Amino acid sequence: MDGFRLSEDELEERAAEGSFERGVEYHEAKAVLSVIARGKHVQARVSGSRAQPYQVELAGADGDELGRVSCSCPDDREGWCKHVVAVLLAIRGGDEELEQRPTPEVEIGELSEGELRSFVEELAISRSEVLDLLEARWETVRVLEADEAATEDFDAGPFRRRVLMLLHGGQAGTGYTYARAIRTKEGITELVELTDRLTCEGAPAAAAEALAVMLDVYLEGWEKIHGLGRFPGDVVESLAEGLEEALERMGLSEDETDRWLSRIDEWQEAVEGYGLRRGFLGPRHAVQAGVDVPRS
Ligand SMILES: [Zn+2]
Repeated sequence: MDGFRLSEDELEERAAEGSFERGVEYHEAKAVLSVIARGKHVQARVSGSRAQPYQVELAGADGDELGRVSCSCPDDREGWCKHVVAVLLAIRGGDEELEQRPTPEVEIGELSEGELRSFVEELAISRSEVLDLLEARWETVRVLEADEAATEDFDAGPFRRRVLMLLHGGQAGTGYTYARAIRTKEGITELVELTDRLTCEGAPAAAAEALAVMLDVYLEGWEKIHGLGRFPGDVVESLAEGLEEALERMGLSEDETDRWLSRIDEWQEAVEGYGLRRGFLGPRHAVQAGVDVPRS
């Protein structure tokens, strides 16, 4: 944790204008409700102007250094907000305000299979976003374990619902903030990992369908997390890359080729002017590579 203990000078330098002074006031007024370190990840809650406390997350980078920093408040200026400053001051203040807990891996390892099962069941019933994620995983496993016919009735619904929830802020207490954009990106990355499994383990058509549905929803709704003021192109690029991999392995009929090309055109149009490096060139090439071009 020593890399998280920054000097006051360093804090002042990295804070947004006026945030250092406000952060000191917050810290002195005991606005930092909790600071919990699990391995190299710190989660803290800071009471602010809203009823719901703001959530500050700090992640360790290489070695002991402080890496990514985020807060759920709407302050999207360059530099750290007062909540982040207050939390780092609390960490600097010493172990009194900092609670060390085992990592989730360790805590989950302590549970018996039965306890874990009933915990996941409770989560799935009480939190719809967990249920969507669980169903996306279940659908992936079902298609991979069944024979080829299962691919045809692959249900991309859980993938669609999960992206919708991420875009519309299904979790309580999150505004249209940088922190939420990060959470959306991480949530989509989890889904892309599932589609990678589908592609690599023999169900590329299911992967392509899931990715297509995710692109439809994302490109329709990305403005909801627009608090950023810029287009989150890396999410679109990771979806497009996954799609390229899947389409390459598919062996498309002529009808399917036309259908995919027209979908790709629609997505390309939706991102036109946002300065994406490659846009949908990859998927387009993958579709066209599968077409037999008559030789002259
Ligand atoms: Zn903040």
